[in-house]
Amino acid sequence: MEKANVDVKPGRVNDPNKMARRAAFDPTVATEKPQAFYDQIKAKFAEERDKRLNYRPSGMSQYTSDLTGDLAKYETDPWAASAIERAPIEDHVECLFIGGGFSALLTAARLRERGVESIRIVEKGSDVGGTWYWNRYPGAACDVSSYDYLPLLDELGYVPKSFFAKGPEIFAHCQAIARKYDLYDLAIFQTTVTQTHWDEKEKIWRLQTDRGDKLTANFVIVANGTLAKPKLTKIKGMERFKGHSFHSSRFDYEYCGQNLENLKNKRVGIIGTGATAVQLIPHLGKAAKELFVFQRTPSAIDIRDDIPTDPEWAASLKPGWQKERLDRHVLGTKPDPEKRKEIEAMPRELRTQRYENHNIEHQMRIHRRVDEIVQDKKTAEALKPWYMHRCKRPTYDDDYLPAFNIPSVHLVDTDGKGITEIYEDGVIFEGQEYPLDLLIYATGFEVQVTGIYNDIRGEKELELNDKYKNGMRTVFGIHSAGYPNLFIMGGYQASFQFNVTFMLQTQGFHIAECIKHTRENGYRTIDAKPETESWWVGEVIKYRGTTSRNRECTPGYYNFEGEENRREDGNYNGGMWQYCQHLDESKGRYEEYFKFDE
Ligand code: NDP
Repeated sequence: MEKANVDVKPGRVNDPNKMARRAAFDPTVATEKPQAFYDQIKAKFAEERDKRLNYRPSGMSQYTSDLTGDLAKYETDPWAASAIERAPIEDHVECLFIGGGFSALLTAARLRERGVESIRIVEKGSDVGGTWYWNRYPGAACDVSSYDYLPLLDELGYVPKSFFAKGPEIFAHCQAIARKYDLYDLAIFQTTVTQTHWDEKEKIWRLQTDRGDKLTANFVIVANGTLAKPKLTKIKGMERFKGHSFHSSRFDYEYCGQNLENLKNKRVGIIGTGATAVQLIPHLGKAAKELFVFQRTPSAIDIRDDIPTDPEWAASLKPGWQKERLDRHVLGTKPDPEKRKEIEAMPRELRTQRYENHNIEHQMRIHRRVDEIVQDKKTAEALKPWYMHRCKRPTYDDDYLPAFNIPSVHLVDTDGKGITEIYEDGVIFEGQEYPLDLLIYATGFEVQVTGIYNDIRGEKELELNDKYKNGMRTVFGIHSAGYPNLFIMGGYQASFQFNVTFMLQTQGFHIAECIKHTRENGYRTIDAKPETESWWVGEVIKYRGTTSRNRECTPGYYNFEGEENRREDGNYNGGMWQYCQHLDESKGRYEEYFKFDE
């Protein structure tokens, strides 16, 4: 392979007015190398994928998120200063949110703007913040520019400190939103909703919690997050390990020390090399006596190139600046009709080939960056991702690759096999023992599951997952017929956006408008019309599975670990712009889309 040229920077961050640039491939532009070059790499991608699929035919069931019994400790809240003692609550609110992350905060803010007073958040953690409440590992930060990711900046009069916000800043912003919109007043923390049942006679939702609460609400918003419940790979012997261990989203500073100072005499292992591990490993690498990184599939590590916010730029921002910026953002996803025509006029095969060739060029730049930074050749080879861009979550970090030049940091590359055995003292791979004091699982989360911990029953007591048994059925991923006054956020059949908060804001606006329409017209309930639901399921199906891309990707949560799945059981792939259009079109026509009951 040719010599590295890391100077080919994607120019992601040099102007705060820009969005963090995402790779976009233009099939109307030809690539320069002979086709055989790309074909050879594509064949290697396929080989690497097949190898992984053969090692783990168990697909999604290789993981467990049933963290009970011996595994319960992996889900315990390390951030709760103390257990909140309180008597069970029995009362009624108008709007109840299950979960207190960005979904709830954004929608609640919009409900407040529309005059809704009675709002309750019920949250498992001890504060609002969701993912940013839980994920406090050293290095936690967001990969979307902070001026786009942090919502309600205008409303709160806040400008983030740098182009990419760090975890603590984002968490503090969540708390500021909750204060600004008085969301703490009725909030209940350290409480998990276990039952959400529709009372057909009273036309209210009846909820129960693990604290014995009996709550009722007119409207329920299921805001439990897209990646909320930690999951662990089932590894033989994991319960035998005598050292210390935790999941990355429950980082144990008591053990590690606030600045990881306690790790200086410790042998630390980490399983997983996804987006979390990429941020965490540079910190562990500097602090630990020895760090062993157990890798199954490398992440693609692109340039981060963060910059502090320019105070002059911040001072120049006029009211409404964030809205303007986000509007541009959506427009940016609008397909250019001329370009579209040109692309559509191309033979399908050529179009696909060009997309793939550009994608391969992109990944080869990632490879060159590894060669340029990582000194040990064998380690560098093992850190190269052999799959198309976006088969896995791309990552952006400037400290990860250099960490492998620290002599005490060891990459244990399992070449796709993964760690399959743990013993009393540590990890075993191919007969070699790696004794450890601390083992961190950076093995990810359950993905987009609606109603985790919760039994949701709508009309005729039908449980939501039973309704979905033969395929998901929703309108916009938000409403599901037979579940009146229930709104789902962050689940499948909605558009996926790298900037998740933008997608959640879009859903939040829609939900707040629906609730407003229901209240203002004296209705008690709003529900999806079955025909609207059939239309939306059809839209989802139309845009899914038209390419073989998912099948060709290396396994990961983006492609359901390589498992076949129904076309409707995933995100709406028509694009964010089109998703927003659909929501906009429904506004003012709710009576056509939904069923209202007086
Ligand atoms: P992921 O699910 O992305 O990663 C899990 C990792 O564990 C993978 O590398 C996986 O390997 C590995 N793994 C699983 N089992 C084994 C095994 N037996 N042996 C070795 N490795 C194993 O979880 P993350 O927590 O990293 O990220 C989840 C998501 O959270 C991200 O995709 C992103 O959306 C979000 N996030 C965003 C951040 C940001 O904005 N910067 C930061 C952190 C997270 P394999 O790839 O082979 O399956």
